[in-house]
Amino acid sequence: MELKNLRVDGKRLRRSLEEMARIGATPGGGVQRLTLSGEDKRARDLFVKWLKELKLELTIDEMGNIFGRRAGKDNSLAPVMTGSHIDSQPKGGRFDGILGVMGALEVFRTLQENKVVSERPLVIVDWTNEEGSRFAPAMCASGVWAGCLERDWVYGRTDINGKKFVDELERIGYRGKAPARKWPVHAYFEYHIEQGPLLERQGKTIGAPKGIVCEHWNDVYLQGEANQVGPTPMEGRHDALCAAAEMILKIGELPERMGGNMVATVGEIQNYPNSRNIIPDRVHFTVDIRSWDDEHALKAWELLKEELKAVAARRGCPIEIKETWRIEHQPFAEPLVQRVLDTAGELGYSALYMVSGAGHDASYMNKIAPTAMIFVPSIGGRSHVEVENTRWEDCEAGANVLLHCLLKTAGEK
Ligand SMILES: [Zn+2]
Repeated sequence: MELKNLRVDGKRLRRSLEEMARIGATPGGGVQRLTLSGEDKRARDLFVKWLKELKLELTIDEMGNIFGRRAGKDNSLAPVMTGSHIDSQPKGGRFDGILGVMGALEVFRTLQENKVVSERPLVIVDWTNEEGSRFAPAMCASGVWAGCLERDWVYGRTDINGKKFVDELERIGYRGKAPARKWPVHAYFEYHIEQGPLLERQGKTIGAPKGIVCEHWNDVYLQGEANQVGPTPMEGRHDALCAAAEMILKIGELPERMGGNMVATVGEIQNYPNSRNIIPDRVHFTVDIRSWDDEHALKAWELLKEELKAVAARRGCPIEIKETWRIEHQPFAEPLVQRVLDTAGELGYSALYMVSGAGHDASYMNKIAPTAMIFVPSIGGRSHVEVENTRWEDCEAGANVLLHCLLKTAGEK
């Protein structure tokens, strides 16, 4: 068969996705595969089994990242890498992350059964903890691998129950021996669902993001004064939850006040002691700000910080603000983005040049290697929810674009 006529097996890709979706399946039709949980371990075990069937050279590093290397014609050349993540949000969807891992696996299977050997080696990867919902921050294992985050800092991160990242990694048996340290990569492609509505609205099948917005993660801690709710007059209360409520509305309104392209979200909140008849004395919430314009996001955050402090002072609730994590916006390698657009066209799929509003491991990979992503539509633009869905034919289309982007790029001298 002529190489340009090579296509993945869409039915096999669907079967792999369906088998993975059974691990951590939720009643609402989604999956819950939190990082380093039992479900994460079972999905990893299945992935490793499939890598072994392809006789790939398997490496698990000290962050639990899983790599499968497929030899090329010239193994002295740096490989082309592709992959994504197996973990999910709490009550997340069946496509986020896993599509990029199963899509890459399907490409490798297609190459294997057609006895195609690329010039450069190819590497498939599953990055640990992309989501960052159990252990903040997100994308921390690709961050360590790329040399942007400290391994021991990530090892010491704790979940809401005080469990440490390193202990959980050890417990599920995925604390590998190989150092989590970058090696030369010729290019990195990540295949993913769009997680937004643009492709669907514009009736396009393939998205080629020019890059990823910046992300600023902050944590706010408020101290109030607990008391019996009945006998305590409203006047003179120090209600930490009321203070948080006022702050959260300010955060929701921030993008409109600032103008320009940005989003701001409070997604997580803990209220203590969380009893209906005690005035809340302790609240923690998260703040997530994203924009293509790093300066704009920083300016917004500086303004917001002053406003939050003013609310805290007026309500007599001492505030502590921790800047948890920040990553600048990442413009991808233009020739590779163009390759995604061209390849989609050659295969007969419509395509859209766009921006990724979601963070991906591609953010860190972009710092060390030419990087691009391939998006397919999310039905209704919904993601990080149980109803997250993508048409099977679109899953297949994205995998075909990945196949040919990898072949072209791995053919470069
Ligand atoms: Zn993802």
